[in-house]
Amino acid sequence: MDANILFGLGKVMKENESREMYLEVIYELEQQQEVVHSVDIASRMDFSKPSVSRAINVLRKNGYIAHSPYGDVALTEKGRELARRVYNTHQLLTAFFTQILKLDPETAEADACRIEHVISQQALDAIEAYLGARNQA
Ligand SMILES: [Zn+2]
Repeated sequence: MDANILFGLGKVMKENESREMYLEVIYELEQQQEVVHSVDIASRMDFSKPSVSRAINVLRKNGYIAHSPYGDVALTEKGRELARRVYNTHQLLTAFFTQILKLDPETAEADACRIEHVISQQALDAIEAYLGARNQA
């Protein structure tokens, strides 16, 4: 994906989707390594470093990422809460797509990662209940 397209916030990609994507990636990286740098995010998302730096600044200004003099990127409590919600949605949708719909894992992940930003809470609750009931059977 072209970073410039992403960073046309509100033009091509909605701002909240862009924000959630970044937070999700930072959340995943935080689980894998002690310190996250914007270069890690850039390589994970395949975006240019300047685009990522701009996005990080916006996230910082909005209180999702902590201010750090060392240039590392750490989620605030507010950032982590939103990131965890996106991440959990991603996991739930992926499980639904692979276990119930029998999609291949790659398609399931890719679809989950797009749908996670727009799906309603009602649909999520229904999927969760469905999977829960099925796993208890
Ligand atoms: Zn995702």
